Amino acid sequence: MAGVRTPDITIPSDLLPADGRFGSGPTKVRPEIVRSLADHATDYLGTSHRQLTVRLMVAELRNGIAELLRSPDGYEIILGNGGSTGFWDCATFGLIERRSHHLSFGEFGGKFAAGVAAAPHLDTPSILESDPGTHPPLAAVDGVDVYCYPHNETSTGVMFDPVRVDDPDALMVIDATSAAGGLHFDPTAADVYYFAPQKALAADGGLWIAMVSPAAIERIERIAASDRWIPPSLDLKIALDNSRKDQTYNTPALATVFLAAKTVGWFNDNGGLSWSAGRSARSAEILYGWAERSEVASPFVQIESQRSLVVATIDFDEAISADTICDVLRANGIVDTNGYRKLGRNQLRIGMFPAIEPSDTEALTRCLDHVIDALS
Ligand SMILES: *Cc1c(COP(=O)(O)O)cnc(C)c1O
Repeated sequence: MAGVRTPDITIPSDLLPADGRFGSGPTKVRPEIVRSLADHATDYLGTSHRQLTVRLMVAELRNGIAELLRSPDGYEIILGNGGSTGFWDCATFGLIERRSHHLSFGEFGGKFAAGVAAAPHLDTPSILESDPGTHPPLAAVDGVDVYCYPHNETSTGVMFDPVRVDDPDALMVIDATSAAGGLHFDPTAADVYYFAPQKALAADGGLWIAMVSPAAIERIERIAASDRWIPPSLDLKIALDNSRKDQTYNTPALATVFLAAKTVGWFNDNGGLSWSAGRSARSAEILYGWAERSEVASPFVQIESQRSLVVATIDFDEAISADTICDVLRANGIVDTNGYRKLGRNQLRIGMFPAIEPSDTEALTRCLDHVIDALS
């Protein structure tokens, strides 16, 4: 940062984690997976996405996601370009019939709600907010046909275990961008469980992926058949038709498809969601345990059941600057631990995604102790 010098503190190398990436998105991509992509530098990358080689990789990704998320009978895995932000626009055109209800408890849930509120073809959405570091309650709202909320609010480190509202004709549309693969959930609680691969899935950005229920498919088909204008790249019916052929409407990032498919395969080979989410839970136990024992740090999210197991937000006493800790960590190769700017707290935000070794989370706590000692 201009004008502010980072204190010259060298963390002893035997304390450092093997991998210093603790960001909340993009997140650590496993070097093993990147090397296996390099092994396919000439027979996969740079080949047509309409031919079998790439379509088989898309199929591997779709099947792997279905297995990982324990996709219920009749649910399908669909995908397209534009990341989760692109999916919000797809949903605005192709899932919301007239009016949606949103739980807004951070940057991402808030952005989706704001986008819907600006859509001229929809009624003004119902938006329920809560204080940062909490989530609002979920209850039925009259005249609503879609309920939207994040499974994990990445900006504040608050999680919300998906549940169904007692409103049989409405769809539950859940933003799982930083949750999918890292948090347990009941898949039957979701009609649409959507995400992008650069967070809990430890791949790269640019795609959206969604697990959709029969009711969601029916909704997509009904709206697509109506006289609503839908831009083709945001048309979920076109995405559905292409996904069923293991394709995307336009060219996807082939590297992203590969990295996502292989990382999901790595999760599944090791035991699936219970294994991958278990790794995040183990890191969370280590990191929150450290914060609770610390004299200068404490978990930001007070209600334990809302405290995210994939993104930890840790507050620091005024006596010590979280930004300085973050800068010192970065100078030592431990990156992206900064808090979410708009929250404006003296806070670190630390990714605990399944690809991160819990032993590295443990090492991070030792590095934090070292830096805090040196700064005190
Ligand atoms: C990162 C994130 C998004 C946005 O994802 P993009 O792929 O960058 O569009 C949306 N929702 C949540 C919960 C996120 O963490």
